[in-house]
Amino acid sequence: MQRSYDTRLIRAKRSYTVKAIAKLYSVDPNTVRKWVKDGLKPIDQSRIIVIHGSDLKAFLDKRQAKRKQPCKDGEMYCSKCRKPKRLLLGSFHILPTNTVNLMGKGECRICKTQMTRIDVMTNLQKVTALFNYASSTKT
Ligand SMILES: [Zn+2]
Repeated sequence: MQRSYDTRLIRAKRSYTVKAIAKLYSVDPNTVRKWVKDGLKPIDQSRIIVIHGSDLKAFLDKRQAKRKQPCKDGEMYCSKCRKPKRLLLGSFHILPTNTVNLMGKGECRICKTQMTRIDVMTNLQKVTALFNYASSTKT
């Protein structure tokens, strides 16, 4: 999985060289040059690439928003399909992990990979309703 970058570290009114961005996020300067190739806009066409803080922030925010794949109701994230997937009917069950958290488990409808959703115990009813199956509590 690609790492995400905290865009709060960027000062919108500052200009950044490739080196400065690389240092800010502890990445290789080549990673930053790749961002430029991918659409991060430099201030001008000069040989030394300088990027405006607001452009850098917008670029990373957009890139990271695109990658987010929130699960819809009744879905869990399948690591094999790399997408949120609906559950195989009847495969959902809840395992209490401790007094605070619960672990919802189910199989991916497509590839039958075991998927997991961690939630807080107080959401037990909500989670059970969400997946629309009767839960069989196992220890
Ligand atoms: Zn799957």
